[in-house]
Amino acid sequence: MRYMSTRGHADRKQFCEILLEGLAPDGGLYLPESYPQISAIDLAKLRGVWNTQGYAALAFEVLSLYIDDIPAQDLRELCLKTYTKDCFGTSEIVPIKALKTDAAPGAEVSLEALSNGPTLAFKDMAMQLLGNLFEYELARRNAELNILGATSGDTGSAAEYAMRGKKGVRVFMTSPLGRMSPFQQAQMFSLLDENIHNIAIEGVFDDCQDIVKAVSNDLEFKRKYKIGTVNSINWARLLAQVVYYFAGYFQATHNDSQKVSFCVPSGNFGNVCAGHVARMMGLPIDQLVVATNENDVLDEFFRTGVYRVRGTADTHETSSPSMDISKASNFERFVFDLLQRDASQTKNLFHDQLNQKGQFDLGSNPLFANAKSKFGFASGKSTHTDRLKTIQETYANNHIMIDTHTADGLKVAVPLAKPGIPMLVLETALPIKFAATLVEALGKEPDRPPKFEGIEALPKRVMVLPQSAAAVKEYIASHCN
Ligand SMILES: *Cc1c(COP(=O)(O)O)cnc(C)c1O
Repeated sequence: MRYMSTRGHADRKQFCEILLEGLAPDGGLYLPESYPQISAIDLAKLRGVWNTQGYAALAFEVLSLYIDDIPAQDLRELCLKTYTKDCFGTSEIVPIKALKTDAAPGAEVSLEALSNGPTLAFKDMAMQLLGNLFEYELARRNAELNILGATSGDTGSAAEYAMRGKKGVRVFMTSPLGRMSPFQQAQMFSLLDENIHNIAIEGVFDDCQDIVKAVSNDLEFKRKYKIGTVNSINWARLLAQVVYYFAGYFQATHNDSQKVSFCVPSGNFGNVCAGHVARMMGLPIDQLVVATNENDVLDEFFRTGVYRVRGTADTHETSSPSMDISKASNFERFVFDLLQRDASQTKNLFHDQLNQKGQFDLGSNPLFANAKSKFGFASGKSTHTDRLKTIQETYANNHIMIDTHTADGLKVAVPLAKPGIPMLVLETALPIKFAATLVEALGKEPDRPPKFEGIEALPKRVMVLPQSAAAVKEYIASHCN
């Protein structure tokens, strides 16, 4: 298996070469040269693996279609070490649960639980594997990596919990001082591992991102201190997410002639892009529904063909903050496939047109119709009012609490669910992470998993730094040796 850039660079790379990289050299994103195809026989075999051996073994089977530069036995062990009941709370790892909703008669809507990992958001599903892959590959190369990131909550904590105690890796995670929820702050700052560095910046999230960019653009510093990232464009993260589309399918169906649909609360388009990959491999997926909040860049595209990135001023701060994006960093991967893998056209859209005009319009391109008809995409948008109502109704009808992002997904999914085709809404976080909105909706605090009792009172380790790339560089330099 070789990987190529969406912008046409001539290089072809192996999995472990792109594992520790971000963008391709031409600014594009990596994708496999072609998607491995799952035949009816393969699908039956995978269902058997799921039924008899469970999630970790299924993960190994799916990943090994894309990874041929890690010996099979090692890859299997990495999967077994990652996807344990201990880490993800249940032996199914991603159990599904049917809901009572207002969907059409005969249409069944379920939640697929992806948020029972260490930080209670779906990002653990990929990040935990990434931590083990990084440790493995760095040891093989006898190398080190210093991960520098910016977070407003979910990504940073998932990265820290995945990398804590890992050999060869340090994490330097910037976050805006005092802006994360108390629970999120407690989760991150209570990590006392030597290789984890929390840096609270006196500024907002964008200031943190600007600092990360500035440090990464200093190529000499970047090389000297082996700076890397773990953002959602990383192919290994996306690949790890493909597995739970298979696991959801096997749980929701009895035989391989059935189809399912997925609805995915979306921001950077990483999660739903993994669904697109699963569908391209031949997993029988009917619809892939993209749910957005008030930041509806993606819903607008699927409705109109116009992809219009927003400025900071036009990006709303919402009660589903992990979906508050101005542009969707993985979206280029899908557009590349939509354009029949025309790299020069992809480059023209994402490099030239976005830089010049901040938008492009595929509405009049005949291929745009394929987004729906051939690739199965649908979309919808949810607002704060919808979110509160969905949380209230779900609690009233099912007596379970869902988080704000999952509520956006459920709101969008219900009217699109079709009789006879199970609709799986991906549960992307647990409500305790977004307690204030749950209290607003239900008048009470969300349930807290026992292992998180009292975390706000634990000792904290965080360095407060001014809004300055130089200060962050100095901190990194003095903590790498
Ligand atoms: C990251 C995140 C999302 C968005 O996922 P993308 O892969 O960026 O589309 C949705 N919900 C929650 C809770 C998240 O943490």
